[in-house]
Amino acid sequence: MSNSQASSNPRPESARLYEEAQRHIVGGVNSPSRSFKAVGGGAPVFMQRAEGAYFWDVDGNRYLDYLAAFGPIVTGHAHPHVTAAIVRAAQNGTLYGTPTEGEVTLARMLKDTIPSLDKVRFVNSGTEAVMTTIRVARAATGRNKIVKFAGCYHGHSDLVLVAAGSGPSTLGIPDSAGIPVSIASEVITVPFNDTEGLRLALEAWGDDVAAVMIEPIVGNFGMVMPKPGFLEDVCRMARAAGALVIYDEVITAFRFHYGTTQTYAAAFPDLAAIEPDLTALGKIIGGGLPIGAYGGRAEIMAQVAPLGPAYQAGTMAGNPASIAAGIACLEVLREPGVYARMEALGTRLADGLRESAERHGVALTVNRIAGAISTHFCDHPVTNYDEAQNTDGERFAAFFREMLSRGIYLAPSKYEAWFLTTAHTDADIDRTLEAADESFRAMR
Ligand code: PLP
Repeated sequence: MSNSQASSNPRPESARLYEEAQRHIVGGVNSPSRSFKAVGGGAPVFMQRAEGAYFWDVDGNRYLDYLAAFGPIVTGHAHPHVTAAIVRAAQNGTLYGTPTEGEVTLARMLKDTIPSLDKVRFVNSGTEAVMTTIRVARAATGRNKIVKFAGCYHGHSDLVLVAAGSGPSTLGIPDSAGIPVSIASEVITVPFNDTEGLRLALEAWGDDVAAVMIEPIVGNFGMVMPKPGFLEDVCRMARAAGALVIYDEVITAFRFHYGTTQTYAAAFPDLAAIEPDLTALGKIIGGGLPIGAYGGRAEIMAQVAPLGPAYQAGTMAGNPASIAAGIACLEVLREPGVYARMEALGTRLADGLRESAERHGVALTVNRIAGAISTHFCDHPVTNYDEAQNTDGERFAAFFREMLSRGIYLAPSKYEAWFLTTAHTDADIDRTLEAADESFRAMR
């Protein structure tokens, strides 16, 4: 933390820019998750530059970054190998509107790692990737309805911004203005980790269900593992109903190991039993530039234009800079020891936070999956969305602000994860735990 953070308003330039931003940009931010609404409001921090595990704001304050841009930044900011790839791509022209060799290379890298991908298509965001998997599943099955799980976030397209109805076998209600009830009625939302809820939903609507869509490991109401056998049940029950299984691995792909949930042998003993039909990807596979991708079995992907009747296109899709950054990022992640190091740091961080909270009498549940953790101010486990909601948001907000004032940047929401990168060090964990200890003391 720089000296300027000791003064009463350590971020005057952020405050000034926020005032001006609100005059030109709706809410002053280009994505609502960047605002500080969920942590007491006020000006968000305007960042100016980032390197490794740190970023610097427009007032010159330095922060240790656990946001990782909500997941994509896994090699740290401005990693030299990724940056060089982006510069080279820019120098060769930013967009052609023709196929390029890089797209073939990145598609092959994904296919070599994820066995359920026979064919891939690159798009520009996770939202687009998920949205298109639904269209493809509908085209392939001739059915309309989608089953999803409460609290999983799948981007901002209409069908996935639908909340649960009043019970597991009721149809959904729109979760955002502007979504017709007729669209929400095509979506059934059931609780995560609840096999019986899924059974009831499929019993009631199974013949109409095109796909069961899931974040196989949850990254959007904290980090939450499926209970043993849950993913296997999802795949088995969906197939018994004649529905496809879509994994949304936009956050999870290449986050915990070099691969996805469906290749995470350390966590799932029978990988064949959890293989999806379609997968949506994004975030890390673009190395910090905009990207999304979806893929699956060849006969299902044959539905997509120009081979089949399901239309999907994109002027910017597969743009050379994103593709180059993605390839470079995966090359860094392929280096030996990368994930073991993040996992070791994640273990220290999670254990240290638990010990410190306990020392100060703060009720805290810490979920950890490899180098990603989530902190929940509660005295119960968090295994589904209800449990994640039933936590103390005001305490989280207080903790967030205490940590921010000590130069530790967390995501401004009690539901978001802390992500480690290849750039974080043991010394960074020490600093973080010191700041957390002081923060818990200040909150007492
Ligand atoms: N799916 C998951 C699991 C996500 O976490 C997100 C974004 O956070 C998305 C889809 C949407 O991706 P994007 O923000 O790139 O549109």
